[in-house]
Amino acid sequence: MEKQALILGGGVFGLAAALELRTRGWRVVLLDAGGIPHPDAASTDISKVVRMDYGADPLYTAMGEAAIRRWREWNARWGEDLFHEDGFLVMTRRPMTPGSFEHDSHAFLTARGHPLRRVGAETLRRAHPKWNAGAFADGYFNPQGGWAESGRVVARLKLDALAAGVEIHEHRPFHRWLEEGGRVRGVMDAHGAEWRADVVVSALGAWTPEHLPWLADRLHATAQSVFHFLPQNAAEWRAPAFPVWAADIGTTGWYGFPANANGVVKVANHGPGRRVRASDARMMPDGEEERFRAFLRATFPALADAPVAASRVCLYGDSFDGHFFLDHDPEHPGLFVATGDSGHAFKFTPVLGPLIADAVEGRPNPWLERFRWRGLGGTDGEKARAGGNK
Ligand SMILES: Cc1cc2nc3c(=O)[nH]c(=O)nc-3n(C[C@H](O)[C@H](O)[C@H](O)COP(=O)(O)OP(=O)(O)OC[C@H]3O[C@@H](n4cnc5c(N)ncnc54)[C@H](O)[C@@H]3O)c2cc1C
Repeated sequence: MEKQALILGGGVFGLAAALELRTRGWRVVLLDAGGIPHPDAASTDISKVVRMDYGADPLYTAMGEAAIRRWREWNARWGEDLFHEDGFLVMTRRPMTPGSFEHDSHAFLTARGHPLRRVGAETLRRAHPKWNAGAFADGYFNPQGGWAESGRVVARLKLDALAAGVEIHEHRPFHRWLEEGGRVRGVMDAHGAEWRADVVVSALGAWTPEHLPWLADRLHATAQSVFHFLPQNAAEWRAPAFPVWAADIGTTGWYGFPANANGVVKVANHGPGRRVRASDARMMPDGEEERFRAFLRATFPALADAPVAASRVCLYGDSFDGHFFLDHDPEHPGLFVATGDSGHAFKFTPVLGPLIADAVEGRPNPWLERFRWRGLGGTDGEKARAGGNK
């Protein structure tokens, strides 16, 4: 008898899980509140950083290495590059010192045999002329990694899921749980329709604490601002001169992308952000554009006065410790939770599906230990955030 899974949410957590469970022979139904890619989903937008650089963290580094290999395979399978391996340029204003994200990533990856290139102010000036080289003393370039066209990846994964036989129902917002005999048996959607399954996988991203309120002590939504700038000559803002970059990300949070096919340069900040409710209206705080332009004036002067093509308030589904939740809910048998992206999960999309499916099926997987169900722990989250866990 075919096992049945019901997936709530068509972002990368939901779609990756749906595809992998379907491949393993499950009958899979996926519901999303809107169209997929949903305009408010974290997985949408024009680009996300894909890298293996995670300080001295062996697990995320290994997951990043594996994900990059699979992004390359996906490009080949898709017959188009939605993952652009332009490399990752990581710069700091001071010499790299032990304990910093930049130093530890460089040391850890070099020790693993990855061919990184150290970049000082002189090399920066010559090879990456858009940077204000005088302000940056040290860093490195990792030729492996780059960026993925996130919204297009979601659209592609939806097509792959449909082709694999996943049933996708858009504009079907989750409304309430169907519980019988102490077990979650399914959900009712906002139109009153009932959907039943052997397991319900909740992949609702930043909306999770609103629909699983018993997790509101461990999960919350954080708003982050994103700006898309339109420089005059886009060709000058592309790799190799202008790859994916991080500018003192360990202490300031600033990072960004080369110009995409439409000539748009995205700039974002992995900072504390603003705590919000995911279903509240998305408000861009006053002064945000000026905050971004002040950063650009100090770092990429030629971009500081470029017109804004678009801006976006995007939400992290933050967990208290910065790590994902990929596990069965011990208090709610029949319910599986896949969330807690904390602003850094998109890059792992190619390895998320097998990870979630192993957890759903209870198969051993050493990578799952960190993502197991857990109560409020220490302050790993703050440390993780400070370390530039992008
Ligand atoms: C500003 C920003 C920048 C980021 N940059 C990077 C980066 O550079 N690299 C990286 O690796 N990661 C990055 N991330 C993180 C990455 O985007 C997330 O980790 C990932 O997209 C989360 O996917 P998800 O499927 O959990 O959530 P989402 O993509 O948000 O999907 C959740 C889905 O649930 C649906 N939903 C909501 N409520 C309901 C309901 N009631 N019923 C049914 N469906 C519902 C939504 O419509 C949505 O489609 C960034 C995130 C943000 C916000």
